[in-house]
Amino acid sequence: MPDLAFVNGRVLTQDPRRPEAEALLIREGRIARVGSTSDIREASGRGVQMFDLGGRWLLPGFMDTHTHLVEWGVSRQGVDLSTGTHLEALRDLLRPAARTTPADRWIVGYGWDESRLAEGRPLARRDLDLWALPHPLFLWRVCGHLAVVNRPALRALGLPEESPGVITEEAAREAYRKIPFSVEDLRAGVRRAAQEALALGITTVHEMLDRPEALPWLEELPGPRFRTYLYREHLDLLKAEFGQVSDRARLCGAKVFVDGSLGARTAALLEPYADAPAERGSLLVLREEVEALLQEADDLGWQIAFHAIGDRAIEAVLTACEAVFDRRGTWVCHRLEHGLLMRPEYLARLKRLGLALTVQSNFLAAWGGDQGLYAKRLGERWKWIAPIRSLLARRVSVAFGSDNLPLGPLQGIAAAVNHPVPEERISAAEAIRLYTQAGAALAGDGEELGMLSEGMLADCVVLSGDLLTDPLPCRVELTVLGGEVVYGEG
Ligand SMILES: [Zn+2]
Repeated sequence: MPDLAFVNGRVLTQDPRRPEAEALLIREGRIARVGSTSDIREASGRGVQMFDLGGRWLLPGFMDTHTHLVEWGVSRQGVDLSTGTHLEALRDLLRPAARTTPADRWIVGYGWDESRLAEGRPLARRDLDLWALPHPLFLWRVCGHLAVVNRPALRALGLPEESPGVITEEAAREAYRKIPFSVEDLRAGVRRAAQEALALGITTVHEMLDRPEALPWLEELPGPRFRTYLYREHLDLLKAEFGQVSDRARLCGAKVFVDGSLGARTAALLEPYADAPAERGSLLVLREEVEALLQEADDLGWQIAFHAIGDRAIEAVLTACEAVFDRRGTWVCHRLEHGLLMRPEYLARLKRLGLALTVQSNFLAAWGGDQGLYAKRLGERWKWIAPIRSLLARRVSVAFGSDNLPLGPLQGIAAAVNHPVPEERISAAEAIRLYTQAGAALAGDGEELGMLSEGMLADCVVLSGDLLTDPLPCRVELTVLGGEVVYGEG
């Protein structure tokens, strides 16, 4: 692996001691020097591969703090339904797969979203049955918290054929796990996920892993791999599992679903849904369970990542955390995932607990705004979603991730800059920090990753475009992981 030098660029280091520089030298996988172009030229010995950035941006590699890359890669072997704008169109999207798949094999689709369908209502089993396909169909809603299946699928799953065919949360995940993917499909999915992540400039993910058998594949796959912090989605944890599993992967903790999603109306709300006055969603775990788990995790030094979307779920997490924290005084940095319906009074409680929040700013672009799905579900309450500027002003620990909806740090950065509630907008520079350094700090690796400073691991990206004024049209042109070019040619 040759040493690399980047010169004539705009290096945004994320290091407060030296926020900007022109050039960078990488030696044996680590940052050897940051400085001016002439400095770096001088320090570069023979055999250094020199990149002239020509004024382009160089940043630390992006860190996505909430991914489902394995599941996403696997489902990507299925049919993308996200472009379907009406029911017929969804059927047309499934047609090619139906033609080439044997009738007894499953067809998986993903990404349908009723807020984009002309019919304006979620899919139902009878819609799928009308298409009269012999294959068992399993079609994930875009949120991944709800799926609809057809009659052959119900039969294959051993469920009553007259049931509505709409399954949510753990039942949906359990049904999905019963689909017999071939090992080759699964490995191809993981490989694809890795390639797409690197092409988007993502060098580290915090992966919520529901398929433990995939762990060796993450490690064994030929070619470049990203760095992974793993959070298991099961509570039957083997304690011995935790810790570093390789130089690129570490098991950090567990993810706990406290509620579901707003789209599927399974998020637990204190007050009813605006568009379904009889519904408030429900909690998936009891407060006592949360407390016991926190206590145990804290003793062992694991992080718990609480998936909580509705205010009733966030309230339950905060109350349980307060009880444990007040008994102990200090604790591991636990995390709140999404925390969407963030009532203003929760900010001070988060800050006091040192509970970190992972925010998916990309959700705002997809479902925010007066006419968006959140406004439909919540009425005026949608404006409490992801109050990024207020969180930073309160010094709550925040890091950005995507939840794979979709993957893409530049989209997430653009969405934060263009927050639908103008008072909650942040600058591109602040958003970049939340997609790099903040994620490293959250994993306790702020000394190794997330910054371009001497001695740190050399993960970085080169971008085209004018990042600080308009991030959306920017593109990742080169990704470097541990000093090795893993995407692009510069
Ligand atoms: Zn998730």
